[in-house]
Amino acid sequence: GATIGILGGGQLGRMLSVAASRLGFRTHIYEPGANPPAAHVAHRVTTAAYDDLAALAAFAASVDVITYEFENIPTAALDVLEASHPIRPNRRALAVSQDRIAEKDFLTGLGLTCAPYAAVNSLDDLHQAIARIGTPAILKTTRLGYDGKGQARLKTPADADAALAAMHGAPAVLEGFIDFSHEVSVIAARGLDGSVACYDPGENVHKDGILSTTTIPARLSPSQRTDAILLAARILNALDYVGVMGVELFVTRAGLIVNEIAPRVHNSGHWTQNGCAVDQFEQHIRAVAGWPLGDGSRHADVVMENLIGDDILRVPAIAREKNAALHLYGKAEARPGRKMGHVNRIVK
Ligand code: ATP
Ligand code: MG
Ligand code: MG
Repeated sequence: GATIGILGGGQLGRMLSVAASRLGFRTHIYEPGANPPAAHVAHRVTTAAYDDLAALAAFAASVDVITYEFENIPTAALDVLEASHPIRPNRRALAVSQDRIAEKDFLTGLGLTCAPYAAVNSLDDLHQAIARIGTPAILKTTRLGYDGKGQARLKTPADADAALAAMHGAPAVLEGFIDFSHEVSVIAARGLDGSVACYDPGENVHKDGILSTTTIPARLSPSQRTDAILLAARILNALDYVGVMGVELFVTRAGLIVNEIAPRVHNSGHWTQNGCAVDQFEQHIRAVAGWPLGDGSRHADVVMENLIGDDILRVPAIAREKNAALHLYGKAEARPGRKMGHVNRIVK
């Protein structure tokens, strides 16, 4: 069978490997860190850094198509990889989602609504941005942020100095604080043939900047649900995207606001493992392998709960619950804020 190369060996790479294996593919993981979660299930693992261009070239030569579980892959690495094999989703999807300003420029260019935003590279910039956008606001590093890391909230303009210091000199973007009623996400997929399929939107609750639960179905009116799916499809089509994408949205009285996009399988799509015939991981593998997209319609209501840090101690109790499907990542050490696994509770 063909071999799918996956950049990144975390839990997403692990679950992609399992899905690929189920479809008869082999997987080869590229991961700098030792003993990654995906190593237990992949067929082959290369442990090397992203600046090891020889290792990258050898990895590329051993696979048929390349995909990834995280969006912060350095450009030089991508150049080496792309010289021999297609990278799916494509480079443009990566470029747009690696940088919050490029992302918002792209999304607003499509006619979608984002939070008001302004680039901030100095205290002067920040004061000007506050004058334009106002407070409350959030200052975020433009690159490399996840799980709410690299962010500082400004309640009033007096918080400017502290917020800028929290960026540690990295380029940043100030975003107006959106007074949303709730957060939802669309997990969308696009095949090599251009067909698009979206999962039913889920409603997301974050704790300390980290996704805590996703509840399906989300509280959305029929027209909001249609809007959410259509805007996700517009994003994927505009990027000539192949694979699964997570589109995070704020629900407000004035309509849907796009928070951010992730060019990969997404934590808020984990419910699909127990709510759909074809889950997001299989859907992604199908897309990047050039297969037709599978049936992602929802056959159950699900609440996905992330097991973070010490939540892992609740596993013995959860294992006794009815209608609860556990997915554990095989991480040895439970640090605070570390995603150890999740449970999908089927509620209907
Ligand atoms: P992820 O792990 O999803 O990649 P991230 O670190 O990229 O997270 P964001 O999604 O930008 O961070 O923000 C994390 C959470 O902070 C959001 O889900 C939302 O709850 C809140 N948040 C972010 N930006 C705004 C905003 N402009 N207005 C209101 N709340 C916001
Ligand atoms: Mg993010
Ligand atoms: Mg987010």
